[in-house]
This record gives sequence, structure tokens and C-alpha cells, in this order.
Amino acid sequence: MSPAGSTELPRLPNHIDGRARMPLADAWIDDIEPATGRTHALVAASDTSDVDLAVDAARRAFPGWAATPVAERSRLLLALADAVEAEFDAYAAAESRDSGKPISLARRLDIPRALANLRYFATAILHAESELRVTDADAFDYVVRRPRGVAGLISPWNLPLYLLTWKIAPALVTGNTVVAKPSELTPLTATMLAEASAAVGLPPGVLNIVHGRGPAAGAALVAHPDVPAISFTGGTLTGSAIASAAAPRFKALSLELGGKNPTVVFGDVDLDAILPDLVRSSFWNQGQICLCGSRLLVERPLVDRFVDRFVGAVETLRIGDPADPATDQGALISEAHRAKVERYIELGRTLGGEILTGGERPNDLPDRVSDGYFIRPTVIAGLPADCAINQEEIFGPVVTILPFDDEAEAIELANGTPYGLAASVWTNDLKRAHRVAGRLDSGTVWVNTWLQRDLRVPFGGMKQSGVGREGGLEALHFFTEPTNVCVAL
Ligand code: NAD
Repeated sequence: MSPAGSTELPRLPNHIDGRARMPLADAWIDDIEPATGRTHALVAASDTSDVDLAVDAARRAFPGWAATPVAERSRLLLALADAVEAEFDAYAAAESRDSGKPISLARRLDIPRALANLRYFATAILHAESELRVTDADAFDYVVRRPRGVAGLISPWNLPLYLLTWKIAPALVTGNTVVAKPSELTPLTATMLAEASAAVGLPPGVLNIVHGRGPAAGAALVAHPDVPAISFTGGTLTGSAIASAAAPRFKALSLELGGKNPTVVFGDVDLDAILPDLVRSSFWNQGQICLCGSRLLVERPLVDRFVDRFVGAVETLRIGDPADPATDQGALISEAHRAKVERYIELGRTLGGEILTGGERPNDLPDRVSDGYFIRPTVIAGLPADCAINQEEIFGPVVTILPFDDEAEAIELANGTPYGLAASVWTNDLKRAHRVAGRLDSGTVWVNTWLQRDLRVPFGGMKQSGVGREGGLEALHFFTEPTNVCVAL
């Protein structure tokens, strides 16, 4: 990054072949701080020519990196994690500033998880095993897994470094080289990571970061003939466009997409005990986590008490400057995104929904952030399950409450959207918990917990929430091409 002068904004260049590269067309995008609405940096607006340079560097680096002993690849990833950890505060501050999320969340969730991603895959690869099958006395088969080549990685803005490292780490430890395109809305920590990777001695060309808009830089990466694997996390519509571009080129494709996640609360819960988790699962990161529960399905006898307690708890959330450690709710990512969320709230009103709390912008913000993209956490009741607000991903601080009468109806409501990413089930009835978990169309079901993540487990979505799984062995397998070798005895 170039230093901020008194008038000049810092510029966030690409990182290609081990060094900073300005975009060839010298085109830049404003990097806006969502809490203030002001541009705080300029980020490279790369196009096909920049992507070509990066892919070329990654392609040249590939044979050397693929031949590098696993222990050395592991060591370099661990060194990268140490380098990030040494600058923990700077990374957390950058993530908060770039995305509008509270600094407390960046410190508790984003940066620790980025470190965990790097360290998990750096060490998992040391324990990876291959399969061997003996066929009677006639033959045996074993599987050789080779890296695919240049991996194209595309990530969103909601958990910038967390999701970028979630892809970079398994791709690199398995011997692929990488061209990553982070979200143009949150390029700061990716740029810092790129600089750190050079400082710890990652060979040039192994990790390349190309900034820019999706339809330009992202699409060029997806279309590039020398990129055989694409791992994408983002919106369902974007995923569909990427799938259309990648399929005729027969690329390996992993798609982690949107969600409309149900939070299923049965009447037997200890409401006070679980309330903090329910509020967190609804509104962490202003509801901008793909795993947030946005539909609260509540067993009917509990509804009145639930509304009372839940709304009361939501109203204690402190909205304010994300840089303030006491802030619970920061800004939404952009003006356009806030406008989209507000359109959904307006639609809720039009459809006869009752806004139990929120539904408007806060009017008591500190001066520094008074022009930021804030909106109060919003709870809506009284809307039908099949309306747009209960069917479409809003991806903001808006949840609805839907009553249900019995287990069958809870499952029907939970499954009744085009999505299937994550669900949580809250009950003290052990048998019911297992029964319901087994019937939800959802890549992840949490029982009496939320966002509790073991990095070994398969992670991904059903239906329009995605194709494929990340995490643990699934990721190590995605980034490798298996060859089965059959040997006659
Ligand atoms: P987005 O789809 O707009 O953008 C994601 C990334 O794709 C960005 O880097 C963007 O520049 C790029 N992109 C956009 N158009 C492209 C194209 N045509 N070709 C190639 N790349 C393109 O998503 P977003 O708004 O950044 O993120 C929010 C979405 O991400 C939500 O829908 C959320 O549910 C989803 N998400 C899913 C998961 C998951 O694990 N399933 C995790 C986080 C976020």
C-alpha cells in the first residue's frame, strides 16, 4: 500500500509475481468506509489484462510449488499465520474500517478465524492420507492426488479475510498456485495478506491477488483457459453466472451461495438461557453473515413470551461507530445495500407486517459516523411464509417471526424456501432434536448452538445455496485431481 499523504489516498495495488503491480489501465475504484460514507483508499480496478498477468505468474510458479515438499508448504503457511497474528490489531482495525463491522467482531471472529484457517490447513496436509483398496488376491488400487494447477478464488465482502483464507489455505497446501479476487468493497486485508506473504518468503507467483469488479476481473478469472478450478463464495445470482461461464470449460467448481436460514425454536427451551445466541444468530455483522438465521420459527404457545423477550434483547444492542469497542451493531456494507434492505422493510409494511422494533435508521449516531450506512435491527411479525421477505435473502439486520403448531409444520416452514445453507434447532427434547435435524434440507444444522465451527466438517449448501462442500477433507479433495492406479498382483 502506498502511504496516505495529506491529500492523496492510499492505493491498493494488485499483488502479482511476488510484488505490487498497479492496474495496467491505471483505473481505480473508491474504497468507501461504510461507517462514514467517505472514500478511504483507492483499489485497483483490474481487467482481463491484469488477470492474464496474474494467471501467467501463477502458471509459471506452479511446477516449483507443486514439487515443494509438503512440510515446506506447511511451514510457509504457518509463517504467514504468525505474520498476520503479529499484526492482529492492524488487521482487525482494517477489517472493521473496510466493512463497517464492529471492531469487537473483527477481533473475536474474523481475524482469529483467518488464523485458524491458515493453521488448520497447514497442519491438516501433514496428516493427509491416500486410499488403498485390495481386490482379492488379484490387484490393489491406490489413489494419487495431484494439485489442479492455478486455482481461481473469488470471495465476498461480509467476512473478507476469513473467507479468503478459507480458500487460499487449502489451495496452497495441496500444491496449487492461486489467483484470488477479493471483493472490491473490502480489499484492505487481502492487500495486507499479500504483502505478508511476500515478507515470509512465499515464492513469487504462488499467491496472486487481483482486485477489481466482479464482471471485469472476476469474470476474466472464471473464463481464463489456464485456470482449471474456481472456488466462489458470494450471491446466488453471481454463482449462477459463474456456473454458466465455467461449465462449458469443464472447470472444477465450488459454489458457496446465499441462504434464508431458519431458526427453529420449540416451546420447551429455556428462553432466557438461549436468548443471547438467538440475538447473535440474527444480527451478528448486521445480519450480513450467510449463516445468520433470518426466519425465526417459534412454537405457538411460546410466541408471546418470545416476542417480548427477543425484542427487548434486540433493543439493548448498541448501534454506533464500528471503531468503538462497545459497539454491537455497525454499518451495512454500502449505500446501495442499505437501500435494498430498506426496500424489503417497506415491502414488509405494505404487506401488512408488524414492525416490532427497528425498521428505520438510527438518529443518535456519533458525529464521525452520522453519514454512515446504518439501520436499526429490525424484527417483523405477521407476514405469510411465502412472501418475498420470507423467501428471498435480504442479507441485513432484518428477521421475521413465524409461529408453528407442531414439528411437521416447523419442518415444512424451515424447508420452504429455495435455499438450504444452515439451520438451527433449539429444544431440550433429545429425540426431537435428532429427528428434526435429519429432516432439514440444510448443509449445516446446529442444535442448541449457532456458528460453532469445527474446520474438519463439510461446509456448504443444498438447493440454491450452493454446489459442493468446503472444509476439512472436502477442501483438500476439491483442490486435487485424483488418479486411481490399479496394480495387478
Ligand atoms: P457477490 O456475488 O456480489 O460478490 C462476490 C464476489 O464475486 C465478489 O468478489 C465480486 O466482485 C465477485 N463477482 C461478482 N460478479 C461476478 C462475475 N460475474 N464473475 C465473477 N465474479 C463476480 O456477493 P457479495 O455481495 O460480495 O456477498 C454477499 C453474498 O455472499 C450473500 O448472498 C451471501 O449469502 C453470500 N455468502 C455466502 C457464503 C457461504 O459460505 N455460502 C458466505 C458468505 C457470503
